[in-house]
Amino acid sequence: MPPHDDFTPDDWGCSAFETRAIHAGQEPDPATGAVITPIYQTSTYVQEAVGVHKGYEYSRTDNPTRTALQEVLASLEGGEWALSFASGLAATQNIMYLLRPGDHILLSDDVYGGTYRLVATLVAKYGIDFSLVDMSDLAAVRRGIRPETRLVWVETPTNPYLKVVDIRGVAGELAGHPARLVVDNTFASPYLQQPLALGADLVVHSTTKYLGGHSDVVGGAVIGNDRDVYETMKFNQNAAGAVPGPFDCWLTLRGIKTLAVRMDRHCANARAVAEFLHNHPAVDRVFYPGLPGQPGHEIAQRQMRDYSGMVSFTTRGGPEVAAEIVARTKVFQLAESLGGVESLIEHPGRMTHASVAGTGAAVEDRLIRLSVGIEHVSDLIADLRQALGAAVEAGVPAD
Ligand code: PLP
Repeated sequence: MPPHDDFTPDDWGCSAFETRAIHAGQEPDPATGAVITPIYQTSTYVQEAVGVHKGYEYSRTDNPTRTALQEVLASLEGGEWALSFASGLAATQNIMYLLRPGDHILLSDDVYGGTYRLVATLVAKYGIDFSLVDMSDLAAVRRGIRPETRLVWVETPTNPYLKVVDIRGVAGELAGHPARLVVDNTFASPYLQQPLALGADLVVHSTTKYLGGHSDVVGGAVIGNDRDVYETMKFNQNAAGAVPGPFDCWLTLRGIKTLAVRMDRHCANARAVAEFLHNHPAVDRVFYPGLPGQPGHEIAQRQMRDYSGMVSFTTRGGPEVAAEIVARTKVFQLAESLGGVESLIEHPGRMTHASVAGTGAAVEDRLIRLSVGIEHVSDLIADLRQALGAAVEAGVPAD
């Protein structure tokens, strides 16, 4: 199991996604034959003589459980390399270290609130400018690119409005420009969408979400093809230190093994939930790229295998109606985050997106976001029916 220097297209390149999710980078343990990659819970490694070792010196730099995780992530995204981090935002921060004072970042106007906060409060302090644009509008992207733009940051589907960005289209707008195209693929997962094949330079994940899949671990990753970028990011990661622990890597590895089957169920349940909401009198608008007629539906059909498990909607009436609904569901638990096996409901304006209130990235206060889990769909719909019914009874205008 080489620690880091030997990234080649992996031996599993010809196998199906589902097979690679279980086997890529996860050969039986050479020491014991253990089928499952061990948790190498060690901070350091013995050296036979100074500098003579089996490829590992210190676990901030490399750890075998992390190596296995990085290899499967690279394989699933179709990249040459992957780096794992302590969180999605740590992965994002490491990408920001590629920038210099005077550079400009073009961000999606519907970007995850934590990404916006990182850029607007910390990155901006170092003389790096940013602006927001609706990335689903390619003409707006074209107008937003400046000579000094060095990163274009796409999320698709976006959080929380689930807008779809044409990755190939944005890559086309950047042809001949030195800016790198980064795609946050957290909401889709590599099972549904592979941005590198569509022209992205780097893919970033909060592995906390679908990849981990069980709401029991926080992590992040960056995947790419450019060897020089890898060398720089690897150096920066070791220098700055936001690495994941071996147990966190192991939990993520375990989650990834079932990614494909989980995603199929997330997608099927979300479709049924979106259709139910679409026909409910207490609901104003549904945001879900799988509904025909939704903006971005055709692009999603082209660049995604399915539409993922996220559904957002606005309620009729004021924000108090949304507050009432999120307080009343029982199977959908009121919590931040997404992508776990259990269904979650949240009120972005007061929760995940509270940090962008009053900014260009603010969200409506009548918006509710669902992370549709893999429970039986009839229980999910019954739960939403009772919570929305109670809101109607409480006097929501039903026209
Ligand atoms: N990107 C997206 C789309 C997210 O939803 C999140 C977290 O919710 C992040 C990045 C940040 O990931 P983490 O919470 O693992 O730092």
